[in-house]
Amino acid sequence: MDYLTAAGWPWLADPIARLRAAGAADRLPHSLLILAAPGLGAAELAAWAGAFALCEARPVARPCGECAACALLRADAHPDWHVVRIEEDAQQIKVDQVRELIERLVQKSYRGGYKVGLIEGAEALNANGANAFLKTLEEPTARTLLMLTAARSHRLPPTVASRCLKLALRPPERATALAWLRSQSGEAQGWEVPLALAGGAPLRAVELRRAGVVELDAEMRRSLADLAAGTLDLTLLAERWVRADPAPRVAWLENWITTRILAGVGGAGDSKTAESVRLPAAARGPKITAMYALLDAVRDFRRLATTGVNPQLALEALLLRFRSLSS
Ligand SMILES: [Zn+2]
Repeated sequence: MDYLTAAGWPWLADPIARLRAAGAADRLPHSLLILAAPGLGAAELAAWAGAFALCEARPVARPCGECAACALLRADAHPDWHVVRIEEDAQQIKVDQVRELIERLVQKSYRGGYKVGLIEGAEALNANGANAFLKTLEEPTARTLLMLTAARSHRLPPTVASRCLKLALRPPERATALAWLRSQSGEAQGWEVPLALAGGAPLRAVELRRAGVVELDAEMRRSLADLAAGTLDLTLLAERWVRADPAPRVAWLENWITTRILAGVGGAGDSKTAESVRLPAAARGPKITAMYALLDAVRDFRRLATTGVNPQLALEALLLRFRSLSS
């Protein structure tokens, strides 16, 4: 397991500093709830925190990466490190998985130090699982670190969430994220679009770029410019999207509209982000009401896409709205 990477990520500097300060005072929390959108490194931060608790170098300011405990962690073989996550094809984390974790945590530490338990994706805990876990949270055993990672919109019972120290991860400033993306990839160009579509989450931006989002952006800009100029047939474009995959294209469109609206109403918007996704000049300007209507239509499309509606017709309706907005 990789527990050293997280320390080099600038947007995790604050949570890591908090954990280091707590560790230095010998006051690591009993339970930690890491809340984050995808692509902010919640799992990596949990790995760092677990390694920080288990590292046997003294004094320990960070996981040393060299002691016996660190070597065991690297090999995924540390006997006092226990992880629970949703099993493949399962809908929820099973209550038996939670019970097994609790069993292990009440036993004596194998190496005589900390015991660490992690529940990854804790929103997949059902009520029974959360209840089983609650008792452990209420009566923590000494030198035990329990961690949960979850989305910020989690629906964990308040009884569970309120007993944990919460670390809410936030995306870094755009300039910080871009500098990090450029330096770690060696690619100076082309990060604006993936970062915008990732909602500012750097690791998600890396994934999106790998998945071809830069090419998608170029394709979308070309198509919509042609559509606005009247040189591309609307039915044809809808057909093309249906054949390729409408979902990422509609997601792109939603991001573009949102960015235009934010830039248009001012304040909350980031004009640089808006400009990075250039669209036909005719679509610019304060047509905010029409933009909102288009945004509603895009969201309706996403909602209806799961209900078996004819995608060709729905996309044509969407593109018709877009075209009338840009004329
Ligand atoms: Zn170590």
